[in-house]
Amino acid sequence: MKKYKTVQTLLAHASINPNQHHGFVNTPVYRGSTVAFPTSESMREGRQKYSYGRWNNPSTEALTQALQQLEGAEGTVLCPSGLSACTTAILSVVGTGDHLLVADNVYSPIRAFCEQVGQRLGIEVSFYDPTIGAGIVDLLKPNTKAIYTESPGSLTLEIQDLPAIVKVAHDHDILVIADNTWGTPLYFPSLELGVDLSIMAATKYIVGHSDAVLGTVSASKRAWDSLKRFHFSMGLFASPDDVTLALRGMRTLDVRLERHYRNATIVAKWLETREEVKAVYYPALESHPQHQLWKRDFKGASGLLSFVTKPSTQVAADALLDSLSLFSIGYSWGGFESLAMIADPKPVRSATSWEVDGHLVRLHIGLEDPSDLISDLEEGFARFNMLRSQQIIEYS
Ligand SMILES: *Cc1c(COP(=O)(O)O)cnc(C)c1O
Repeated sequence: MKKYKTVQTLLAHASINPNQHHGFVNTPVYRGSTVAFPTSESMREGRQKYSYGRWNNPSTEALTQALQQLEGAEGTVLCPSGLSACTTAILSVVGTGDHLLVADNVYSPIRAFCEQVGQRLGIEVSFYDPTIGAGIVDLLKPNTKAIYTESPGSLTLEIQDLPAIVKVAHDHDILVIADNTWGTPLYFPSLELGVDLSIMAATKYIVGHSDAVLGTVSASKRAWDSLKRFHFSMGLFASPDDVTLALRGMRTLDVRLERHYRNATIVAKWLETREEVKAVYYPALESHPQHQLWKRDFKGASGLLSFVTKPSTQVAADALLDSLSLFSIGYSWGGFESLAMIADPKPVRSATSWEVDGHLVRLHIGLEDPSDLISDLEEGFARFNMLRSQQIIEYS
C-alpha cells in the first residue's frame, strides 16, 4: 500500500486504481455473492484474490484499505452499522468471565448491550466516571480485559484523558477500545495515541451525507488477529452500495470537518452569550471543563455540541425546536445538514449523576452559513421565551 505524506493527499488518492477498472477513476460498485473460478483445482487451492462476496470484494476492499491507511491501523473491518462496529469490537476481545470497564457517558445503546447481551454471556461490566483519567487504575480487577471509551461522550461531551487511560491499561495488559466517531482519525488519531480498537459509526462523518448506515473497526497490531477472526466468524458484511457511498464521503472528509468545526465554534460561542442558555458543551470552548485535554490531544472539533436551557417547561423546550426551520429534528448526525434533538442524560448514567435543571438540547451544526443558523436559533429562543413566561404566569 502507498504511503502518503499528508492526510489531505491520502483522502484524495487512497484506493484509486484506474488501471484495474478500465481507466475509471472510482472503484465501481461490485455487487455479488458468487465469484467464479476457472477450474475446480483453482478453487481448491484458493488461488484467486476474490473468492466469495461476503469475504472480500473490490468495493469493500477499496474502503477498507483507505480507512486502514487513514487510521494507521494493522487492519480494518466493515460492519453493517456503527452499533454493530461497537459490539464487534467488544466481543472480539471480551468473553465470559472477563471484566469490561465502560465510560458512564457512553452512547446509550452500548449500555443496553452490556446490560442485556453482556450479562447473558457472563461478561462483568462496570461503568466509570469519564473524567477519571489515571484514577481508572483503582477500578481494575484481576479479570479486567478491556476499557471501552468514547471521547467526547455522547450528549454531554466530556473529554477523557485517553493517554493516561492507555498507559494504565497497557501496564496491566488490558486493551483500550475507543469510539472515535466524533473526532475521526483526522482530529483524534486514536491508534497513534495507543488505542487498540478504534471504532467509527461511519454513518456520521465518513458517509457524511445522511444516506447510508455503516460502521468500521480498526485495530492495532495486538488486537488485529482477534478482530479479524471474530468479524469473519460472525459473517459480518457491509453492502457494496453503502461502502461506495462511504468511500465517496471520505474524499471530502477533511474539507467538511473543517467547515463543521468553524461553524460549530461560531454557534457555540454565540450560544454562550444567550440569556436562555445555562451551559454549552463543546470541547473547543475555553469554558469546557476538559478544554486543556482537548487542546492537547485533538487537532480539531466536529459539528456536534450540546447546551442546557435555563429551567423551563417541556412545552417551551419543544417549541424552541419546533420553530427551527434550518435544523431538522432527528437522530444521527455527521451529515451536511443541521439537526436538533432534546435528550435526557439522567436515566443513562450509573457511576455519575446528571443533576442539571433545564433541558439538554443536542445540535449538529451542518455546512449552512452559521449566521443563518444563528438567526434560526434566535427565532427558536423567542418562541421559548414567550412560552417560558406564559407558563410562569399560568402557574403563579
Ligand atoms: C450514531 C453512533 C453510533 C451508532 O451508529 P449507527 O450507525 O447508528 O449504528 C455509535 N457511536 C456513536 C458515538 C454514535 O454517535
